[in-house]
Amino acid sequence: MRAALKTGCWNTDDLKPYKQIKDEITIDHANHVLLHGKRIILQSSLQDRVTKLAQLGHQGHSKTKALLREYVWFPNLGKLVKLAIDGCLACQSLAQPNPSKPLLSTPMSDHPWEHVKVDFCGPLLSGHYLLVIIDCYSCFPEVEILQSTSCMKVIPKLDSIFARHGIPVKLTSNNGPLFQSQEFKRYMQHLGIKHHHSTPLWPQGNSEVEAFNKPLIKAIKAAHVENRPWQQEVHKFLLSYRSTPHSTMNVPPSQLLYNCQIRGTLPTLPRKHHLIDRHAEAHDNNELKKEKGRNYANQHRRTKRSFIKIGDKVLIKQGKRDKLSTNFNTTPNTIVSVNGSRLTAERNGHKVTRNASFFKKFKGQTQDDDYNMNYQTNISHDNESNELPQEQLLRRSTRPKTQTKLYGEPIISSLIP
Ligand SMILES: [Zn+2]
Repeated sequence: MRAALKTGCWNTDDLKPYKQIKDEITIDHANHVLLHGKRIILQSSLQDRVTKLAQLGHQGHSKTKALLREYVWFPNLGKLVKLAIDGCLACQSLAQPNPSKPLLSTPMSDHPWEHVKVDFCGPLLSGHYLLVIIDCYSCFPEVEILQSTSCMKVIPKLDSIFARHGIPVKLTSNNGPLFQSQEFKRYMQHLGIKHHHSTPLWPQGNSEVEAFNKPLIKAIKAAHVENRPWQQEVHKFLLSYRSTPHSTMNVPPSQLLYNCQIRGTLPTLPRKHHLIDRHAEAHDNNELKKEKGRNYANQHRRTKRSFIKIGDKVLIKQGKRDKLSTNFNTTPNTIVSVNGSRLTAERNGHKVTRNASFFKKFKGQTQDDDYNMNYQTNISHDNESNELPQEQLLRRSTRPKTQTKLYGEPIISSLIP
């Protein structure tokens, strides 16, 4: 190829695939490599090996291709990635039956490590939990392996993460018992962190964490398939994930957090100008992706705009208890607060806060007084404290099923105290 660059003769069979980019090829004399843009052009003897290295995180087709394209260039990159994934037992056995829908991304925050989201994954088969923290700006993830989700175990792990990246201004979590505890509240106050609770039963509001947890769990399952220690595989996965262009921003999370390229398993050039600034690029891509996501949602989901206002009577979506249970609870509530798509309904002094999609405007005659008289005594109404176990149950079936009550009515079971 070096000869062809000098002579301009690209007509041999082995050079054909490179002919299309011949005008964009440069030579890095210092390192004796050919570049396409900033990427190293890989010779054919290395292509297979590097593709397999990129596949080690089991991140799937598009992420593996994105990771490779961040560092190297070679013809038929897509084809080699497909071959590598088709030949990977872990990836094949863990393949999703249906391609996942694009997630609606929430806006990036203004600065790295200013707003973080926290969640737990697990318990895993080993009994461990994973504490997951994601930076809303860069999508840079931190994962800690825990024996339990008690304050005593979690707070020292958070300390160590905050020591690494600094104390965030805002932390968003779900309404799990730990995040509602006095001790956690005091910890947040002490560090001066604004603690925000996400809308109950609305995992879409936590899309960064959800989008991360899926491949993380897949990597752990892949470790089981390949008979490797899963704790080690989590580190391998994290290195991969942090150096792979993120699906919405198309910039690796590590570059947005550190302003430099971290060294992963793929070949890179020693960089003289180490600092990089890809923040504007990430913002633009994020906006573009959001627009696409909105269009997709409008086309594929029946995204009914909520015209529910304060004072409206509504029914609340409920979990399925048996084949006969209805999708919505049959007891009307009254909307008392509207905050964007986050609505709060009240009945007999008990409040329920959910995303708008959980409410259905009740158009019939309400006969609220009759309801109150007939059901007040035997319906224990949903409130903030007894809805927690159900949230866990719905979001992650692997969690301990300490469910006490579903919407409205107590479950009659001798197993539930
Ligand atoms: Zn794989």
